[in-house]
Amino acid sequence: MPATDTVLEKGIMQIPKWWSCPSGYEEIQEKAHFVGKSELLHRSSISDQQSLYPRESLKKITEAGFGAVTVPASHGGLETGFTGFAVLAETFAQYCASSAMCWVMHTAATQTLFEAGTPEQRNRFIPGVINGEIGGLAFSEPATGSHFWNVVSSAPRQRDGYLLNADKSFVTSAGEADWYIVCTNSPDSTLEDKLMFLLVKNDQEGIECFPFNAMGLRGNSSGPMTFKDVFVPRENRIGTEGGMNYFNENTIDPLFLLGTAAVWTGVAQGALNTAIDGAKKKVHADTGKSVASYQVIRHELAKAQILIDSSRSMVYRTAQGMDELVRNGHSLAEHLFPIWQVKTHAADMVIQVTNQALQVSGGRGYLTGQVEKYLRDGRAGAVMGPTNEILREWIGRSLVEVPWFE
Ligand SMILES: Cc1cc2nc3c(=O)[nH]c(=O)nc-3n(C[C@H](O)[C@H](O)[C@H](O)COP(=O)(O)OP(=O)(O)OC[C@H]3O[C@@H](n4cnc5c(N)ncnc54)[C@H](O)[C@@H]3O)c2cc1C
Repeated sequence: MPATDTVLEKGIMQIPKWWSCPSGYEEIQEKAHFVGKSELLHRSSISDQQSLYPRESLKKITEAGFGAVTVPASHGGLETGFTGFAVLAETFAQYCASSAMCWVMHTAATQTLFEAGTPEQRNRFIPGVINGEIGGLAFSEPATGSHFWNVVSSAPRQRDGYLLNADKSFVTSAGEADWYIVCTNSPDSTLEDKLMFLLVKNDQEGIECFPFNAMGLRGNSSGPMTFKDVFVPRENRIGTEGGMNYFNENTIDPLFLLGTAAVWTGVAQGALNTAIDGAKKKVHADTGKSVASYQVIRHELAKAQILIDSSRSMVYRTAQGMDELVRNGHSLAEHLFPIWQVKTHAADMVIQVTNQALQVSGGRGYLTGQVEKYLRDGRAGAVMGPTNEILREWIGRSLVEVPWFE
């Protein structure tokens, strides 16, 4: 008799596969679970305790073929689209949030390079990415904080390139990535929008990185960076001299918001799985009952799972919608509303669910280890840009039909 029939005979309801994985992505999800279980999970606590960059885990992700997932197959990528990207981000995050977050930022940087870059730049940089080079996005600056699209730094023209001077407040993979897309202003641009993207290699002179000592995502290396008189040759300018805000809205925000929403969904599921496991295993000697046998605990687990699935449903519906838009030649910049919502919801949800997971785990959950780590990691979501306050404002403005952007 097949296993499922046995399970059905026992009256145990199975969670259908389609509920947690969009159709057609089962194979990559399974592969990502395998990488997560065998390569990410056991390194995750060490990375957290020692603030160690998850280089080995990222290497294993690349070796599994996930180094350039959104890049077309014609350029050696996996061409997963947004849906496959979200499936992978969610799955990796169940095992190691830092690896998943570094990978999301890397994927967003790679896709920006691919979309805004020239054919020559694609040929020069994408093969390195497929072989394991890591990219980062250096946008946020201390002067403008959460308003990372309003950077104050600049890079005037100099000889056959630009002289970059910039202070960056948070850069995921700072000092660890092989290259960064640095967002700055071009004072020489004739365009109204002065934003310019420069690709800076990690070993260039004039770069300094500072440690990241944070509550969670401790392996991320998301510390400040300074770029002092860094010369960037013109061939490493990605896109136009000014006018790059479009790529913020059409490429970086959509990928970043969807990817992080998927990460927070995965972090919440990882926390809940750990809590469920603990609740089943912990048996009180006096009553002979497991923690999972208390109805109040089971209700809490159910409420948490429903919340996670609300976020997961939004993540996959949004991702599939984004794939559809791109297939039909539409600009994502005109369809940001659901993408803002999904990140806001996932980042709120993970705070609530990781708290519930800790509560049902009792004192064990409070001890340094898996459950409290998920809580600390997940807390980053709401403060990462665009922050939940800013996103709610954009959503609210759109609802009352006033321009979302001032
Ligand atoms: C773990 C981590 C990784 C990160 N990685 C990167 C990265 O790789 N690259 C990068 O460029 N940046 C990165 N960031 C920066 C991130 O995107 C935000 O820019 C940053 O977290 C904002 O912090 P701040 O201290 O500058 O906030 P502030 O701007 O000082 O904000 C403080 C508070 O005010 C609220 N607020 C600010 N402006 C408004 C407004 N207009 N309306 C309503 N409320 C507002 C904020 O929501 C927040 O609650 C990272 C941040 C973290 C925490």
